[in-house]
Amino acid sequence: MKLNIFKRISAVIFILLSLSVSFNISKSSISIADTSENIPEGLNKLLRAYPDFLDSAGENTLYWKDGTEMVYNDGIENKSHDEKLDNPDLEDMMSQEYALGDLLKEPEENFEPGRIRYEPFFRKMYGDNASEVKQNIENVKWVDGSVIQFSRVNGASDKLRLVAEELSQLPAEYQKYLRNIGGTFVWRNIAGTSRLSNHSFGTAIDINTKFSDYWQWNKNMTYSNRIPFEIVEVFEKYGFIWGGKWYHYDTMHFEYRPELLENKKRLP
Ligand SMILES: [Zn+2]
Repeated sequence: MKLNIFKRISAVIFILLSLSVSFNISKSSISIADTSENIPEGLNKLLRAYPDFLDSAGENTLYWKDGTEMVYNDGIENKSHDEKLDNPDLEDMMSQEYALGDLLKEPEENFEPGRIRYEPFFRKMYGDNASEVKQNIENVKWVDGSVIQFSRVNGASDKLRLVAEELSQLPAEYQKYLRNIGGTFVWRNIAGTSRLSNHSFGTAIDINTKFSDYWQWNKNMTYSNRIPFEIVEVFEKYGFIWGGKWYHYDTMHFEYRPELLENKKRLP
C-alpha cells in the first residue's frame, strides 16, 4: 500500500517535471524565433498603437487580426517626396519621426511627419467609404459647448473628450482659438489632390480657421503660425499630431495618429 502511494507520487512528480521541461523548451524556442526576425521599428510602432486591429509583424509584413497581410516596404526606391505622398507604402508613412514639444524653428523642406498616409491602412480600420465611417461616428461635446462628430474606433473619440476637458481648463485668452471650429468628419479629398483627407475617417479636427495658417492660402511657403503651443501640447498628450509641424503647414489641423507619438520623442 505504502509502495503504491510512493509510486503514484513519483509518477505525478515525473509528469510535472517533464511538463515544466517541455514548457521551458517551447518558451525558449519562441523567443529565438522572435529575435531572429528583424522587425522594423515602424512596424513595432504600428503594433503598439493599434492593438485592436493588428496582430503581429514579420520583417516586411504587417499581420492583421482578421488575417489580412500588408507589405511594409514596397521595394520602390528613390521615391520623391511627392511620389511618397501620392503612392506611399507603410514604410514611407513611418519614415519621418514626429516629435513632441514646442516648434522653435520652422519645419525643414518636406519634413512633415504624418502627412504621408498609406490610405488602405486607415480605410481598413475606420471605414472604406462615408457610410462605413459613419457607423463608427459618435458625438463629442467640444470645449465651447458645441457637439462635434468623431470616430470611436481605436478610442479616438474618447481621446478627443480628454483633449476637450483639458483645453477647457486653459485660461480665457486661449478659448478664442477653440470656438467656431473648422470641422471634424467630412468624407473628402485634400484640396487640390486625389488623396483622402483624414477628416474622411472622423479622426481629424480643424480648430478656428480665423486664427489659422494654411500653406495653400499662402503659396510662397512662408511658414506662419498663430496657434499657441499650450493648445498643441494638450492634443499631443492624447495621441494627436499637429499640422503646424509640417513644411506644408496646416495650423488648424489635428489628427489622431498614436503610432507617431508612442515613442514620446521630443524636439531638442
Ligand atoms: Zn484639417
